[in-house]
Amino acid sequence: MLYITLWIVLSILVALYAFARGHSTINVFGFLLLGLVFSPLIALVATVLIPPSDKSLIDKGLAKKCPHCAELIKTEAEVCGHCGIDLDVAKKCPHCAEWVKSEAAVCSHCGRDI
Ligand SMILES: [Zn+2]
Ligand SMILES: [Zn+2]
Repeated sequence: MLYITLWIVLSILVALYAFARGHSTINVFGFLLLGLVFSPLIALVATVLIPPSDKSLIDKGLAKKCPHCAELIKTEAEVCGHCGIDLDVAKKCPHCAEWVKSEAAVCSHCGRDI
């Protein structure tokens, strides 16, 4: 009986971990079932190996899309880890559509006033 209780508790813990990682509710339920039916250990491995979908990460506010390269980045990121753009200061030049710092008065790409 103790073994079964432990089995269920571990499965729930794995499901909670999956939820914390940003998995969608359906996925979390899937990991819970995987833990209960097969093994909490297998569920844990699956949780670690399978990345949460972009959509569920954005829905949960754990990630956002870089306005420059459209790659997924952390919500609190100030600099995009993919294209290196500074997210706090970046704005688009209305003339050449290149990215420049928001405090810039002149576009560093086309040299026109912003
Ligand atoms: Zn980027
Ligand atoms: Zn420009």
